[in-house]
Formats: sequence, C-alpha cells, structure tokens
Amino acid sequence: MPSEVRTIFIGGEWSAAQSHDSLEVRSPTDGEVFGAISRGGKPEIERAVDAARAALAGPWSTTAGFERGRIMSKLSALILDHLEELAQLEARDTGKPITQARTDIRATARYFEFYAGAADKVLGDVLPFLDGYQVTVQREPRGVCGLIIPWNYPASMFGRTIGPALATGNTVVLKPAEDASMSCARLTALAHEAGLPAGVINLVTGLGEEAGAALSQHPDVDFLSFTGSPEVGTLIQTAAARNHVPCVLELGGKSPQIVFDDADFERAAQTIVGVITQNAGQTCSAGSRVLVQRSAYDRFVGMLKARMSAVRVGAPEADLECGPVINRTQAQKVQGFLDRARGDGIDVIAQGSLDRSAVRTGYFVLPTLFGPVPTTHELAQDEVFGPVLAAIPFEDEAEAIAIANGTAYGLVAGLWTENGARQMRVAKKLRVGQVFVNNYGAGGGIELPFGGVKRSGHGREKGLEALKEYTVAKTVVLRHG
Ligand code: NAP
Ligand code: MG
Repeated sequence: MPSEVRTIFIGGEWSAAQSHDSLEVRSPTDGEVFGAISRGGKPEIERAVDAARAALAGPWSTTAGFERGRIMSKLSALILDHLEELAQLEARDTGKPITQARTDIRATARYFEFYAGAADKVLGDVLPFLDGYQVTVQREPRGVCGLIIPWNYPASMFGRTIGPALATGNTVVLKPAEDASMSCARLTALAHEAGLPAGVINLVTGLGEEAGAALSQHPDVDFLSFTGSPEVGTLIQTAAARNHVPCVLELGGKSPQIVFDDADFERAAQTIVGVITQNAGQTCSAGSRVLVQRSAYDRFVGMLKARMSAVRVGAPEADLECGPVINRTQAQKVQGFLDRARGDGIDVIAQGSLDRSAVRTGYFVLPTLFGPVPTTHELAQDEVFGPVLAAIPFEDEAEAIAIANGTAYGLVAGLWTENGARQMRVAKKLRVGQVFVNNYGAGGGIELPFGGVKRSGHGREKGLEALKEYTVAKTVVLRHG
C-alpha cells in the first residue's frame, strides 16, 4: 500500500487523515489491491465543515450566479478533456465496462453544464398582498451541504449532488463510498483547477460509520443529501431530525416493468434486459421485476430468455454487457438471492455466461431471469442490487397496478403498451417518482426530476427541481404605504 495517501481535500488543500490510516482499494475485476484512500474520520469532517462554513462567508457569497456558472462550465469542459482518464479510473474502481464508464463521465460533465446554465436563473417570486405592500420570495442557499453518495455511480453522483449545490451558492462536504472514491478525488482536483474558491468543495474519504456518521450528525451542517440503502437512510434522517435540518434521501427500489400484450415486444425486451444488466444491476432505478400480461407471457418471456442468455459477463476492458459487482459482500448477497430462489423451487428461465476475461478471483455473478415468481417471494419484494430479473404474470390492468404498487418501494416504473388511454390511466395510478412509457431511462436524463416515494425515499434530485431542495425560501414583506 502506498505510504502517503492524500484523498482528503479541505479548504483548498490535500491532506492525509490525522491518524494517517488508509484504506486499501480493491479491484472488483480481480479482487487485488490496486491503491489506497485516506481514512478520514470525525476530526477531518470537523475541519471540512469549518472550511465549508468559512467559504460561505468568503468570496463565494458575492460571486454572481453567472460567475458560478462560468466556473461550472469550465469544470464541465475539463471533465470532457479528461474523459478517458476518468473513465479508466471509474472502470478500474467499480468494475463497470469501459463504455458504461465513459457514459457516466459524459453524464458528470453534463450535470455541470446543465447546472452552470441554471446558476443565474434561480428565480424568486413577487406576491400579490395588501395595498401598500411589496412582497418578494427569494431563494437563498441552504448553506453547508453534507453529501453522502454510494459506489454504483460515483462520478455521476458527484455531478448530481454538487452541480445543483454550487448553482445555488452553497458549499459542500462530500463523503463518497469507501469502495469507490477515486473518481471523486480526481473530480475534486479538476473543480479546484476550474477556479472554485478554497472551501467550496471539501472531500473526506473514509468509512461510512466513521466519516459518514460524523458528517450526518454534525450540528453545523445545514442540509443532507444521501443515496444508498434504506437502513442507512434511516440513520441519516434520524441525525437530520436531531439537528432540525432537511434531508433528501434516495434509497433504491424494486421498480416494475409492466408489459401489456399490445406492446412493442422487441423494443421492450431489449430495453428491459439492457437495464437490469447495466452496471451489473447495481442501479437504484433498475427495473428488477417484469410484469407480463398472461396472454403474452410465454411469447414475451421467450424473447427475454433469448436476450438474457446472450449477456456476457467479464472484465471492464472486455467491454461486454455486464461487469463484476462491487465487492465480495455484494457478490455473496446476490448469490444468496439466486441460491434461495432456486431452493424455493423458482425456475431459472435464462442465465448469461462468463467471458474468459472474468477471472475466478473477481466478483462476478451470472445475470439471471427467474419466473414465474410469486408476488410474495423476496425476489418480487426486495432490492437485490444485482443483475437478477423476476418475471411475474398478470391478468389485467387492475392486477398489474396492484402488483406494481405492491412493494415497500416506489422509485421508477416502465410501462409498455401502445394503447394511449391505458398509458395515461396506469401512469396516474403508479405510486412512484418517475414513469417511463415505451422507454426506460434508468441512468440518463439530467433534466428530469428524480426520486422516490415510500421506502425509496423523499425529495427530488436532477433537473430544475433539485434547485428547490438546495435553496430555502425567504419571504420579505415591505410596507411602503
Ligand atoms: P450504504 O451503507 O447505504 O452506503 C451508502 C453511503 O453511505 C456510503 O457512502 C457509505 O459509506 C455511507 N454510510 C454507511 N454507513 C453510514 C452511516 N452509519 N452513517 C453515514 N453514512 C454511512 O450502502 P452499502 O453498504 O454500500 O450497500 C448496501 C446495499 O444498499 C446494497 O446492497 C444495495 O441494496 C443498497 N444500495 C443502494 C444504492 C442506491 O443507489 N439506492 C446504492 C448503493 C447501495 P461506506 O461505503 O464507506 O460504508
Ligand atoms: Mg458500506
């Protein structure tokens, strides 16, 4: 392990953790250690929050929206200039196929491009009130934002959280996941190069229960954004409640793909298999249940079978449809779901295959289609966070809606039907944050408000909607007589 590791960035300076402890970084592709990150903890979080607080009172507070936008535009351009370097880093750190990593880095640049354009358009309101009064509602930055992100899309989540935070004039402390911090460190360096004042972005790498917990509990943090598991989401919301600060939680899902017998089957099958194998199924919005109208079940499931059987799993550089999952624990978790489903007598309809590039020490699991899966089974209820698809038959519209809404989650739904009236009827009744009709935009759509209901969390990220989360309304009532 390298003796001196510096992945902590506070007040414009790189440093190691005070304790000088570091954490090994393993490649999901072969399980070998290829680097190390600093193990920041409470002392580093305290310094980072202080730096973010100080930066709020510094030149950043008088930097006009268009000037913030220019810095963000420059960052977007720098990200594209370093696209290949960042994509290679992301692919090595997370195991994702290199084409997917490049797509993620382009999305990261796009976040800064989008929010750069929004930075001078955060508008307030003028309200009608009593005669002799002028009432304005202004949107002000929340202040110091604590951002905790997971390992599945580290670079693009850097953009998804920091983009709207900077556009609205906040400062941030980011705690990425211990399993995938490398691209965030490089992006932080690029943000500094783009001209962000010291203290506007602070990065503390480390463990969730140390650095993450310290950040979420810090009394001088004004706003929290968390993406990850519902269990940790509960801890974050509890910490936010203790400090009386708002939080946005994005906690995954069990998103249904609902296929009616009049759907464009070719397009639906291709998209549905693509989405559940993309990023090895480790996508919060992955459509992990496919609900198929019984009259078309055999035919459509046959098409899914052909496509799932053709999925190959291998190393990032082999650039296949599917890579390894993030770590040994996740591989065991996914394998546990596969073993239990088999043990419970659920049929495996199709499985992908291992490519030669998938070495034995890597964290590979086989993409698998199960069906028919009873709606009460864990495969139909729980988030696997792996390339596992559960096929479930339904009779009619009412049953499709009941099954779709019949889990604890409510993030995204895909709806496949050519019947326009049905598209509207069903979309209205789905308890989710996003509905895709005859398409499914799991990772894309920087412009599109995104977030869940129920156990999938609350609050909205992405699009202009995110600007509301990162600001607070101040009402000014002026009596001029
Ligand atoms: P997790 O523990 O919820 O991790 C998400 C983030 O929270 C990471 O940065 C993590 O840091 C941090 N964290 C962990 N414990 C914390 C604490 N006590 N206080 C504050 N922050 C804390 O998720 P995971 O363990 O990596 O994965 C477990 C499962 O969560 C997965 O199998 C999957 O089902 C789900 N998941 C969902 C999403 C999503 O996009 N919705 C993303 C990832 C995982 P460390 O990584 O350093 O612990
Ligand atoms: Mg963890």
